[in-house]
Amino acid sequence: MSWQDKLRNVEPYQAGEQPQIKNLIKLNTNENPYDPGTKVKQAILDFDSSLLPLYPRPDADELKHSLALYHGLADDQVFIGNGSDEVLALTFLTCFNGEKPVLFPDISYSFYPVYCELYGINYHKVPLNEQLEIVKEDYYQENSGIIFPNPNAPTGLLVTSELIEDILKHNSESIVVIDEAYIDFGGESVVPLLKKYPNLLITQTFSKFRSLAGIRLGVALGNTEIISKLYDVKNSFNSYPIDSLAQVIGLASIEDSDYIHDNAKKIIETREYTKKELKALGFVMPDSYANFIFVKHPQYDAKDLFIKLRERGILVRYFDKPRIDQYLRVTIGTQKQMETFVQVIKEILSLL
Ligand SMILES: *Cc1c(COP(=O)(O)O)cnc(C)c1O
Repeated sequence: MSWQDKLRNVEPYQAGEQPQIKNLIKLNTNENPYDPGTKVKQAILDFDSSLLPLYPRPDADELKHSLALYHGLADDQVFIGNGSDEVLALTFLTCFNGEKPVLFPDISYSFYPVYCELYGINYHKVPLNEQLEIVKEDYYQENSGIIFPNPNAPTGLLVTSELIEDILKHNSESIVVIDEAYIDFGGESVVPLLKKYPNLLITQTFSKFRSLAGIRLGVALGNTEIISKLYDVKNSFNSYPIDSLAQVIGLASIEDSDYIHDNAKKIIETREYTKKELKALGFVMPDSYANFIFVKHPQYDAKDLFIKLRERGILVRYFDKPRIDQYLRVTIGTQKQMETFVQVIKEILSLL
């Protein structure tokens, strides 16, 4: 057996590209177009570099406390990780340890099957219905866990708290994870359900709503038993996932939550503007509650549109996957960026 045979082969998650091209309108990875705010800026300026020789606080206690207050939870109901992708990776490892398959929608965050493959977790992709909606009865089958984003990605469709509560009631022997990466763009968090359902775990991120994809902060909110097991697994892997500077920046961001909510409001307004303009051009789309829209045109090929947009300096996300290969996922940028986007789309359609 060669050393090559001892290497692990996995099919990794493919993140949206981050090209270093000037003047590109980047609408492909759901980043927030607004800056993270003056409090974050000040925190960076005030940061004491003499802290850097020391290891950071292993569990980011101060940030944890601030997040607990923000969500009306106890400190030991909050877990913080290096981006919510890491939180999700640790969640799969910690929470999904049965024989039965873990359930998630067939069209959903494409990192979920990657974690399952990595850890050898049995999984089953539950098809969304024709309208790309989650159907609660589909989650009444036997499983070792359930996970989906709300709003779902990349459709942007939101389910009600009632639907999630129904799924929780039917699955009291599994952990149900709701990935709320986009919940602050018009949805309603299920944090209040934590009081009633000890098997609920919620993940959130600083990357989208808080304009902080660059520092990597993700969160899990849940009952103390799950959270403490998450810390055990984290501490079996990396004791210090959150660096000192990220902890300070995260705190400043929580303190600037009003400013951040105002940005989300602007993004929602621009999203509704973009939906209206694209519908007028014949595009169809699920009714997104996230900071992106998922659009297709009955007459024009999505990949072709993707290429033509890119040639004109606009980058969106195209997924060459079953059921969704005629859609484009378009992140909502500033109002001005989206006006340009609509203009360029009109130009492209007039040439086809
Ligand atoms: C962006 C995203 C994440 C990951 O966020 P990070 O905190 O940047 O790792 C998790 N889940 C979904 C559904 C996302 O779209």
